[in-house]
Amino acid sequence: MARYTGPVCRLCRREGTKLYLKGERCYTEKCAMERRPFPPGQHGRRKVKQTQYALQLRAKQAMKRMYGVLERQFKRYFYEAQRKKGITGDNLVKIVESRLDNVVFRMGFATSRRQARQLVNHGHFMVNGRKVDIPSYRLKPGDVVEVSEKSRDIEPIKHAVELSRERTMYPWLEVNFDELRGTFLRYPEMDELDLPFDIQAIVELYSK
Ligand code: SF4
Repeated sequence: MARYTGPVCRLCRREGTKLYLKGERCYTEKCAMERRPFPPGQHGRRKVKQTQYALQLRAKQAMKRMYGVLERQFKRYFYEAQRKKGITGDNLVKIVESRLDNVVFRMGFATSRRQARQLVNHGHFMVNGRKVDIPSYRLKPGDVVEVSEKSRDIEPIKHAVELSRERTMYPWLEVNFDELRGTFLRYPEMDELDLPFDIQAIVELYSK
């Protein structure tokens, strides 16, 4: 299973927005977007006029990078979103939002999507009572995600839960931190998400 293994703060700097790829560090002043909020590389600080294509490309890269999806799979998601009824952009967001690694992160069982992906990969989660170790596994409304019995005491999950207890849960998810279990109630609506990219630009890019 392919995944990006290079430096991640570089990706945020390239997209010019925080993609929250490093967990706790992203919320501190150590965040590279706080210290060096310009693109990486020798010519990073140079002002360049962005073409429409460049803006569309950056939007697509930001979305892929935020959800940790590589090009081939992302393209597949796009064509699936296009085939479905409704607005393509909304469908695309619903597809990536229902991925198991994303839901584990949003439920607060991991501090970042990258960590969630690794935890899922290592078999620490169950869906509807059965072990699922595929990060791209897609949840359906009503599916129950829980930390497997043998993984309830592992440090990364305990730590993430401690951090998450105080925060307000997303309205499309229900989580019981004492039981380490959550339910994916429904797909999120676009206005419930604070996305750092222009979804319409992505649709335009792929519709050329
Ligand atoms: Fe790095 Fe997180 Fe800041 Fe992005 S948001 S630059 S991943 S620390």
